[in-house]
Amino acid sequence: MDKKELLYEGKAKKVWTTENPEVLIVDYKDDATAFNGLKKGSIAGKGVINNQMSNILMQGLEKKGVPTHFVEELSERETAVKKVKILPLEVIIRNIAAGSFSKRYGVEEGVVFDSPTIEFSYKNDDLGDPLLNDYHAYALKLCTPEELDLVKKYAFQVNDFLKEVWKKCGVTLVDFKIEFGKLSDGTIVLADEISPDTCRLWDSETGKKLDKDRFRRDLGGTEEAYTEVMKRLTESI
Ligand code: ADP
Ligand code: UDP
Repeated sequence: MDKKELLYEGKAKKVWTTENPEVLIVDYKDDATAFNGLKKGSIAGKGVINNQMSNILMQGLEKKGVPTHFVEELSERETAVKKVKILPLEVIIRNIAAGSFSKRYGVEEGVVFDSPTIEFSYKNDDLGDPLLNDYHAYALKLCTPEELDLVKKYAFQVNDFLKEVWKKCGVTLVDFKIEFGKLSDGTIVLADEISPDTCRLWDSETGKKLDKDRFRRDLGGTEEAYTEVMKRLTESI
């Protein structure tokens, strides 16, 4: 399978068309951004890790009955995926308070919830990805109530699966962001990526941050943290 035209270059990935109109190639870069693109940098080896980790996790999710865009890993940084129309929603699940939740509600990072929370942001860089609720999403025609019900069901299934996988690696899943899209026949599938860029992962023993917060907060050792979680994941499967 060959890349044809560059369809889109995002902050972390390039997306290419292929000879098959239903299939795209995603190419993972080492570029990293934070705070809506204000902070820019690079995390050496990140593209390889995010590509491979995302593929391992998406294949596991398929087995659990969550449909995904995954087709085939083509190289260290490239994967063939089903082309979708992305629902312009960032779906965030949280098990433990951190990041913007802690800031917004004045809750200390690390407070464990009795049950997970779900929230949605409008995927719109110009507006700074504002938080929205179900009714806002319908008013903006981002999705239908039926689609959002399915998205919520899948998102909680993703959480159950990821929590279990990471627990076996001695890692606590704090929160994560996922995206969904629609195939040409309207089927909703999990798209984009699942990686230390999009999940908060804390060492279960020490609480050490093993995710993109090391880059966001200038904690150092970002490459090592990504390598460490990837090593633990591959050793656990
Ligand atoms: P951003 O757009 O936030 O800078 P990326 O650099 O990760 O993010 O770019 C990848 C883009 O590709 C994202 O906008 C994402 O929504 C989109 N995308 C992910 N999976 C698919 C897919 N299967 N089909 C079409 N677009 C996708
Ligand atoms: N997240 C993401 N992309 C975004 C915003 C958030 O992948 O554009 C992830 C982030 O890595 C974390 C979770 O979603 O795992 C919750 O992020 P939060 O809302 O706390 O925002 P942040 O503190 O990153 O601004």
